[in-house]
Amino acid sequence: MDTVEELSIALLAIEDRMMWDAPATYRTATELERRAAALGDETLVVRARLCRTNMRLRMGELAGANREILEIHEWAVAHDDRMLQARTHLVWANIHRLLGDAAKSLEHSLSSVELLDETATPHMQVWHVTKLADALGFAASMSDARVRYAQAEQIARDLNEPWLHMQVFNNHAYLEHITGNPERAGDVVRRLLAHADEHGFEVDAAILDTVASIQITNGRYAEAERTMQLCLARHETGERDDADALAEYFLTLAKAQRGLGATDQAQGSLDASRAECVQRGLHEVLVRVKREQAELHAARGEFAAAFAMHKDFFEAHEQLRSQQQEAQARTRQAMFETAEARGEAERFREQARRDPLTGLRNRRYVDEELPGLIASDAQLTVAIVDLDHFKRINDQLSHDVGDRVLVQAAKILDAELTELCPDGFVARLGGEEFLLVLPHTPVDVAAARLEQVRLGVGSYPWEETTEGLPVTVSIGAAGVFEAVQRTQPHLLSLADRNLYAAKRAGRDRVVTGSAPLRDAA
Ligand code: GH3
Ligand code: MG
Ligand code: MG
Repeated sequence: MDTVEELSIALLAIEDRMMWDAPATYRTATELERRAAALGDETLVVRARLCRTNMRLRMGELAGANREILEIHEWAVAHDDRMLQARTHLVWANIHRLLGDAAKSLEHSLSSVELLDETATPHMQVWHVTKLADALGFAASMSDARVRYAQAEQIARDLNEPWLHMQVFNNHAYLEHITGNPERAGDVVRRLLAHADEHGFEVDAAILDTVASIQITNGRYAEAERTMQLCLARHETGERDDADALAEYFLTLAKAQRGLGATDQAQGSLDASRAECVQRGLHEVLVRVKREQAELHAARGEFAAAFAMHKDFFEAHEQLRSQQQEAQARTRQAMFETAEARGEAERFREQARRDPLTGLRNRRYVDEELPGLIASDAQLTVAIVDLDHFKRINDQLSHDVGDRVLVQAAKILDAELTELCPDGFVARLGGEEFLLVLPHTPVDVAAARLEQVRLGVGSYPWEETTEGLPVTVSIGAAGVFEAVQRTQPHLLSLADRNLYAAKRAGRDRVVTGSAPLRDAA
């Protein structure tokens, strides 16, 4: 049997990480979730589930991941688990970035930073700020992004986390690169390499690929080629590397070699990249291989081939783009349907708390809401309203007419209460019995208002419905401050006792207070 501590450490090893072998990590997280469930620790179960969801996202299942993340986030909010909320926001930011919604991605990134407190791990403190910087960069505000990268660097220094610090450099360099700031990207790369040197870090193959791409953009082809040779060597020995990355590396190498004028070598690298793409079904990389092939033909003066290949590239590019757009649209649709289904659930919940005949609140709603009001409002008054001689209407006219009287009476009660006590509510307790709840209304003030309610019912033109039979109500009220015990059953029994007194005293009246019951007989 695991301990909570052991499982928590195993989960942290997944949570506080930036690169994963997604399918393998998915299996690990699934296993950890099972063990957490066996241990009966809900927090660990939910944490494991978030790891699983994050891996699903990385395997390309956006819509499914989004549905799960909603549930996890709601759990985290309900249990006031700030760090889990911070982590879900970060995953969410990723989903929106993949969907191409930079604004939403930025919003979630911001939340993922704002939620951090002193219980956050060093990884979270550095990485969440770094991801916020990335999101700012993707949202086209590189100057704000740079402020955040600097902040992330400072935190990494303060926490003495040089390895995390290197990851900040990496992301910063990449963002400068893709947003078209090659010189700044080059500066960051130099700082990255010096930092790695200083601390004796081996730079990951993936980082080296970024470094080389930046060097190529800056026309430093010889450096880029050396970087890529090192990158390929690292890839051979590295354990954390994504197998799909090899196609990318050969492509970067081909570009460096073309820049050096070594077109035969470049062709060899490009062929290696293409073979990887075909073997692994990497359509997106293959499109870029075609573009590079066109460039390479042109560099060799093979202009007809270059032109044909460029056309080929362009068609493949368009096709890929429309496929991606379709996939995004499908995911958005799925996300929308999830939101709709949740709205549906909310409507069901609401319906379950209403009386179907009159549309008023029902007893279930009362049981959920009233205890809280009783506990928090010393001036709360409740009143039970019962129709007088209602059986006669059913018996002498019909059950159908009885129903119509109930519906109309409910309307009058609701309208009267809305006017007299807007923050109160009316519920149908059952049969011809209703409950009025009047917050912030001491019982003596309530008595006058209830008198209005009674008159409102009695003065309605009932003749049209009841063929001349009158409809009146008796009302028994009680205030929280009169109650010996501040509980719902006690308060309602006081009101009920007053209702009984009203009936005994001749009906069509309001009784409040705690006078002893007088026998009207
Ligand atoms: P009192 O003045 O003492 O309250 O007399 P009452 O006739 O109203 O007394 P009682 O509570 O015994 O009768 C209530 C009746 O309400 C009995 C039941 O048939 C009827 N009733 C309960 N629910 C419904 C309903 O949904 N529709 C109709 N039409 N009648 C209902
Ligand atoms: Mg009655
Ligand atoms: Mg009754």
